[in-house]
Amino acid sequence: MAANVTLNSGGHQAKILMTGAEIANALEATTDATPDLVSTDNDVVHTGGCHCGAVQFVVMAPPVLQAVDCNCSICFKKQNRHFIVPKSKFKLMQGEDSLTCYTFNTHQAKHLFCKTCGVQSFYTPRSNPDGYGVMPHCLDQVTVEHIVVETFDGQNWEQTIQTSSIPTRSKVTQGKGDTKEAEKSNQ
Ligand SMILES: [Zn+2]
Repeated sequence: MAANVTLNSGGHQAKILMTGAEIANALEATTDATPDLVSTDNDVVHTGGCHCGAVQFVVMAPPVLQAVDCNCSICFKKQNRHFIVPKSKFKLMQGEDSLTCYTFNTHQAKHLFCKTCGVQSFYTPRSNPDGYGVMPHCLDQVTVEHIVVETFDGQNWEQTIQTSSIPTRSKVTQGKGDTKEAEKSNQ
């Protein structure tokens, strides 16, 4: 079994998680026998995955996706854009064994990616440990109407998160009224 690899990245302790238990832990609820995915008013079923096809998932989200473009140290290098959903709206259909995970600094974000093709199609963001950040460019585009991109100043993460609506996006809102409320509060 491979041991963890510890690297030094920009003064942060970086780590590549390699054991099956650690990957399963990063995935948490996804690999459980998840019941039907939770859907709210505008959601459609999107399918997506990595480039080689090993990792495949289903995610419930509106056809118009609200993506976050973050400029923190890793998101900038990866040009990471992602939309956030509650874990109950995401299901990994295949590829758990193909995922590996990179963490650094606070180790809260779990940067999952395919160990064959290197593509990150979803991950656990630091802002939403109870949700997933899903890459809109890794969806099968047929169900995507439009992608609205907003910027997040991840260079000043601790300050930016204070006034951001992003942490609420991994909470499930049910029913028309609730969804409308959530949309309003995001503006
Ligand atoms: Zn792949």
